[in-house]
Amino acid sequence: MRAALLTEHKYVALVNNFGDSESTINALEAEGAMNLRSIYNSYFNKTTGRPHNSLRNPLNSSSAQGTDSVLEHILQSKQEDEVLDLYPQTFEYNKRDEIPNENEVIDKVDFKKSLTQTMEEDSDLDYRRTIDPSFGVVALREYIPATKLKGMEDWIPESEHYKYYSTATDFPLNIEMDGSLVFPEHLNIFTYEKGNVSPFTKPNRSVTGVLSHFLMDGASILPPLALGIEPGDRVLDACAAPGGKSLSLLQTLYPLDLVSNDLQTSRVERINRIFKDYLIDYEEKWKNKRCFVTEEDARFIPEYEMYDKVLVDVPCTTDRHSVMENDNNIFKTTRIKERLRIPELQSAILSNCIRLLRPGGSLVYSTCTLSPVQNDGVVHMALSQVFRDHNITVTIKDLSTAMRPFLTIYKFENPMNLKYGQLVVPFLPANFGPMYFCKLTRNV
Ligand code: SAM
Repeated sequence: MRAALLTEHKYVALVNNFGDSESTINALEAEGAMNLRSIYNSYFNKTTGRPHNSLRNPLNSSSAQGTDSVLEHILQSKQEDEVLDLYPQTFEYNKRDEIPNENEVIDKVDFKKSLTQTMEEDSDLDYRRTIDPSFGVVALREYIPATKLKGMEDWIPESEHYKYYSTATDFPLNIEMDGSLVFPEHLNIFTYEKGNVSPFTKPNRSVTGVLSHFLMDGASILPPLALGIEPGDRVLDACAAPGGKSLSLLQTLYPLDLVSNDLQTSRVERINRIFKDYLIDYEEKWKNKRCFVTEEDARFIPEYEMYDKVLVDVPCTTDRHSVMENDNNIFKTTRIKERLRIPELQSAILSNCIRLLRPGGSLVYSTCTLSPVQNDGVVHMALSQVFRDHNITVTIKDLSTAMRPFLTIYKFENPMNLKYGQLVVPFLPANFGPMYFCKLTRNV
């Protein structure tokens, strides 16, 4: 998997129905690419029928309680380690030894000696780091015990993250098998078979000025497909930029309207650019008619119960980018705080987006990371949050059977290792993903 992550990922070609789609399809077929819809439909009967695995429902799992007590133990010792690392113990005892009580500690420090005296007695001191009292800052030579670490209030112990692994639910949980995908008849996505890493030709402009096809990571097509979009749906793509998944939703020809939202102005512009490149007369015929590009924080969009379908493709640690690029890398030490806050942000976005669904509507949550915390962990936290704060319950759709026809193209993580969603894992002969996605419907 590591080798695959460090190697160029594999693309699929999404045919633009607003260009000369027939000639694009012919050209792709002539190059040996296959239509994902035909693969799905022809493998469907051969591969379905696996019984629902009850282990995936934590309420049915007898091991759930045991797992939680182990988790609690790990959590406690991790927290202790973190606190010891934060406050290094410089006294004579070892940090693993029993910590002496306060009086014992005070006994070891000679408060009667001034700092100047201590400095004079200690020949090992590095004098380059002391300030000469003639500068008038005498107080700096006095002993001032440290009481608090600067920035402590912003500190999020890493152990906090392990809470996301908790299997105990404090909300009613219903998991239901969703045995098949309805592959939209106009959605044409072309791929090469496993092991074939041939590149696709670059998109070209048709006579109408729009581009012939859109190249995207092959796993990125699965969240919009899993959404199960139907004719006449009102759809929200909550974190849409640069716009690949929004474009694939439009290529189904089904949405009544589509709101493509993102937080950042520069990224919102990228959505508009893609739409201009792929939709004929975008500005006159689509913009603010069927396509609405908005710039809002998805944690606070207030259009409650307005949407039939919502796609929530959140910002994450983007594993492929993180292992390949130094620029703007989320694992840089300067971005630690931001990185540790990602699950909190994701679960706030997801819980608000669940509220935007009309009862009975569907939502797909997705990330491009392997991190269990940002995947199943965030789903778990958001379900707990919407139930606690708004009394909303959902049904998780188990897509493990519905994904089986895709086993010929993608490599999936074993569904037994996941609680709520599916995960496409990078694999050299099928180098797509990582892509986690979880489908749910809002209960009435
Ligand atoms: N769905 C996109 C696609 O397929 O092209 C990729 C989305 S990318 C993984 C996540 C996006 O979320 C980024 O464009 C980022 O600007 C946006 N984002 C980050 N925080 C957000 C927030 N609070 N509300 C809405 N969007 C946000």
